[in-house]
Amino acid sequence: MGKKQFKAESKRLLDLMINSIYTHHEIFLRELISNASDAVDKLYYKAMTEHLDGISREDFAIDLVIGKEDRTLTVRDNGIGMTKEELENNLGVIARSGSLNFKKDMAADEEHKAEDVDIIGQFGVGFYSAFMVSDKVTVKSRAYGSDEAWCWESEGADGYTIEPCEKEGVGTEIVLHIKPATEDENFDEYLDSYRIQAIVKKYSDYIRYPIKMDMERSRLKEGSDKEYETYTENVTLNSMVPLWRKNKSEITPEEYNQFYKEKFYDYEDPARVIHSSTEGAATYNALLFIPARAPYNYYTREYEKGLQLYASGVLIMDKCPDLLPDHFSFVKGLVDSQDLSLNISREMLQHDRQLKVIASRLEKKIHSELANMLFNEREKYEAFYKNFGLQLKYGVYNEFGRNKDTLKDLLLFPSSYEDKPVTLAEYAGRMKEDQKYIYYACGESVEKIRKLPQTEAVLDKGYELLFLTEDIDEFALKMLHDWDGKEFKSVAAGDLDLETPEEKEEAQKQAEENKDLFAFMKETLGDKVSAVRLSKRLKTHPVCLASEGELSLEMEKVLNAMPTDNKVKASRVLEINESHPIFATLAGLFQSDKDKLADYTKLLYDQALLIEGLSIEDPVEFSNQLCRLMSE
Ligand code: ADP
Repeated sequence: MGKKQFKAESKRLLDLMINSIYTHHEIFLRELISNASDAVDKLYYKAMTEHLDGISREDFAIDLVIGKEDRTLTVRDNGIGMTKEELENNLGVIARSGSLNFKKDMAADEEHKAEDVDIIGQFGVGFYSAFMVSDKVTVKSRAYGSDEAWCWESEGADGYTIEPCEKEGVGTEIVLHIKPATEDENFDEYLDSYRIQAIVKKYSDYIRYPIKMDMERSRLKEGSDKEYETYTENVTLNSMVPLWRKNKSEITPEEYNQFYKEKFYDYEDPARVIHSSTEGAATYNALLFIPARAPYNYYTREYEKGLQLYASGVLIMDKCPDLLPDHFSFVKGLVDSQDLSLNISREMLQHDRQLKVIASRLEKKIHSELANMLFNEREKYEAFYKNFGLQLKYGVYNEFGRNKDTLKDLLLFPSSYEDKPVTLAEYAGRMKEDQKYIYYACGESVEKIRKLPQTEAVLDKGYELLFLTEDIDEFALKMLHDWDGKEFKSVAAGDLDLETPEEKEEAQKQAEENKDLFAFMKETLGDKVSAVRLSKRLKTHPVCLASEGELSLEMEKVLNAMPTDNKVKASRVLEINESHPIFATLAGLFQSDKDKLADYTKLLYDQALLIEGLSIEDPVEFSNQLCRLMSE
C-alpha cells in the first residue's frame, strides 16, 4: 500500500518537530499520556451515559512498555480507540488553524528557542511531538464497537501508511521507535525506566487512571540476609489524585502553573490561581486561573467563555458557559462536583439548581480575589486591569446595569491626581469639602484630554479629574450614576456648578447684557446648536462645546460609530469665553458688521467641533473662510 501525504500544513509542522525547535523533548510523553487519558475519559463517559455493559472504571489503565532491544517505547491505552477515518483525520491534519504561522514565527526567532517557550499542546499538535524523539511512529488502534483494527505508520514528513492489522481489545497503542543517540542528544534516556518514571511523575502525576510500567526492583533472596536478586514489578507511576482534589499546601506554584499551561493552552504562567473547595449547599472543588494576558480573540465574538465541568472526577463538559458570568469570562479553569449527575444533558444543565448555586459562589469568589489583589497587590491588579478592565466596564453597563454594584469597586480610571489609575473610592475619599461631583472628561487619550479647554475650570479649582479614554467608560459611569451619593459629572456637561453665588450673579448679569448678541449667533447657527452662551468653564481658551441633557458629545461619537442607521445627536451649546479678546471683537461686530459676525460665528463653531474631535460639516467652506480672513 502506497504512502499517503500529510496535508501541507501538517507536513511543515512535522518538519519543525523533527528538527525540533524545543529543547524540552521529554514533554512528548506528557502529550501522549494526556491523549490516552482523554481517550479513556471518552469511553468511560460513554459507558456511564449509555449504560454499556462490561466496562468498569477499575479496568482502565495506561501502560508504558520499554523495548530495550528494538529501541521502542510503547504507550497503550484501553480507551475509545480510533476508526480508520479517525486515524487519518486526527493524525493526518492539524486540528486548530493558525497554529502553523505561530510556530513558524517561533522557529524564526532564535530567542524563543532559548527561552524554550512551551507551546506544544496549545494548538492541538500534541501527537506530533512524538517525532521529536522517534524516527518512526506506529499507531495501532481499535475503536469501541468495531471488530477491525488499523495500523497507521509514519517516518515523518514524507507521509504515512494505513493498513488493517491485528489488535486485541479496544484502544490505542502507540509505538515510538526511539532515535539513535547523537552527540548532542541522549535519546537513550527514553529507554530508561527510571527516567520515564521521573517524567511521568513530573508531568502526569494527577492523571486519573493508573499509568503502569514494569520496573526492575531488587530484594533479598529468600533465606539469605546478604544476597539480592532482581525481579520485575508492574508499578503504578502516578498518584492519580487530580490536582484540584489535593490540599493547597501540597501543591507548589510550579505545579499549578504547569497544570494551567498544559490544560488551557497558554504559554505564560497565570496571573492568579484560585483554588477552592466547599461543602454544604454545594459540594465542589474549583481550580480557577486568571490568565496573564488576554487571549488574542478575547474581545471578539469568537471567544467562548466557560469552565470545564467534572461530575465526580469525570469530565462531562469542556466549556460550561453557565458557570461564569460574562464580566468574568476571562477566567479559565474547572469545577468538579459530586452533586451533578453524569447523565445530565446540556439543556438540563442550564436549569440545574446546583449549577446555579456553584456559579454564584464562584462569582463571589472571583470578585473577592480581584478585590484582594486590588488592595494588596496593586501593581499586579493594574496589569490584570490592562488586559481585562474593559470587560469589567462592559459588565457594569450590560444587562441594564444588573451587575454594576458588584463591579464598581473593581474599576480603575486614569486621573489628574497621579500617574497611576485610581479607584472611585480613592477619588471620593479625597474630594474637596466644597466639591459636589466626581468630575470626568472624555477623549482619545489622556494627553488629548489634558488639552481640552473644558477641563480648565475644574482643574483650576483644584478638583481631581478622571480621564475617560475608552468608548464604554462614560456609558459605564452613567449607568453607575453616582458613587456613594456623589454624582458623576462630565466637564462638558451643561452646568458644572463650580461658581460661588456671587460669581453666578455676575454671570447672570453678563448673559442678560449680551442676550441679543447670543440670540443672533444662535440664529446664524440654526439647529446646529441649542444655544450660544458665555462660558463659565473656560479660562484661557476662546470657545468650546458643551452638551445639555443625558447624551454627551462623546456618547454621540460612540453610538454613531456603530453600524446602525439610528444616528443620534447630542444637544450642543457653543460657549464663548468672555475674558478672551475674541469676545470684544464679537460684541463690536454685533454693532458694526453683522455679516462678518455671522462668518465668525460659523468659524468659531467649526473650531469648537475640531477641538472635540468631531468632524465639521463643510471643511472646504471652513478653509475658504479662514483664507478670506487671512487675506483681509
Ligand atoms: P489534541 O489532543 O490536542 O486534540 P493531538 O494531535 O494530540 O491533538 O491529537 C489529535 C486527535 O487524535 C485527538 O484530539 C484525538 O481525537 C485523537 N487521538 C490522539 N491520541 C489518541 C488516543 N490515544 N486514543 C484515541 N484518540 C486519540
